[in-house]
Amino acid sequence: AGLVVSFGEMLIDFVPTVSGVSLAEAPGFLKAPGGAPANVAIAVARLGGRCAFLGKLGDDEFGRMLAAILRDNGVDDSGVTFDAGARTALAFVTLRADGEREFMFYRNPSADMLLTEAELNLDLIRKAKVFHYGSISLITEPCRSAHLKAMEVAKEAGALLSYDPNLRLPLWPSAAEAREQILSIWDAADIIKVSDVELEFLTGTDSVEDEVAMRLWRPSLKLLLVTLGEKGCKYYTKDFHGSVESFAVKQVDTTGAGDAFVGALLGKFVEDQSALQDEKKLRELLRFSNACGAITTTKKGAIPSLPNVSEAMQLMERA
Ligand code: ATP
Repeated sequence: AGLVVSFGEMLIDFVPTVSGVSLAEAPGFLKAPGGAPANVAIAVARLGGRCAFLGKLGDDEFGRMLAAILRDNGVDDSGVTFDAGARTALAFVTLRADGEREFMFYRNPSADMLLTEAELNLDLIRKAKVFHYGSISLITEPCRSAHLKAMEVAKEAGALLSYDPNLRLPLWPSAAEAREQILSIWDAADIIKVSDVELEFLTGTDSVEDEVAMRLWRPSLKLLLVTLGEKGCKYYTKDFHGSVESFAVKQVDTTGAGDAFVGALLGKFVEDQSALQDEKKLRELLRFSNACGAITTTKKGAIPSLPNVSEAMQLMERA
């Protein structure tokens, strides 16, 4: 089977033990391993695909814990390096009673930000059939250069490039800088997935209409996806576009839904990319991806709630 390589940050989210409180009000926190690219890697593996994660962790107890989580979930961690001086990144995250997500990051700098070009496992990148990345690794040097180099090597080796910008505005110096940098690598990707919120942010609109999404279209793209939470997703290729509904579930925590959606998609594209030219096949695939996203919202945390194939099939058959 083909290999998916997912590049970027892996960190620990600390989430309150009770829901609906501010960070200051939280009586205690639970560790929730995450980082979108790491979630995607585990999503692929849980669905039976071959996947490697490439990134840097602190040479500390949390870093070693995260690497073990990758391995325990069947993800190749041979591309993971450890920084002797910097800590594994932490993020304190809460969903307040008013529905707003509140973040507090400990990255001053954290190990993930210190990955260098020289530390990249190029052999691993060259083996990738699909190479996936976000935008958080673009924010600061030296990781930014490592990210750009990794993309270049993957592209040269003929991999399909998949990009989920995963906007985390508080990490950027300004909104303008975030927009500019996120769009600076737009043209290199074959597949891009944005959420409705990211679409609005990147286009400076408050609409997810087709003509707005089309502003993010490039001739270099094979597929543009907009995820719409419980409403499913929209897809755009050069020949066709449309939307696919999701499944009714009891939503508990949406963390990781987008990553499950992407992992499901990439796990299929690594075997067969004909859906990029075949609308019927693409719609079937997106139905599966929606099911995987939907299941991920039914339990707390990202990694514990990522589905296996039979869970996804069950939800699809029930509908
Ligand atoms: P996150 O950043 O929380 O990981 P995201 O904003 O990138 O997620 P979403 O649009 O929330 O992505 O979710 C991705 C996909 O998961 C959706 O396209 C949809 O198919 C599915 N999904 C998410 N929430 C729900 C829900 N409440 N009910 C059904 N399906 C859902």
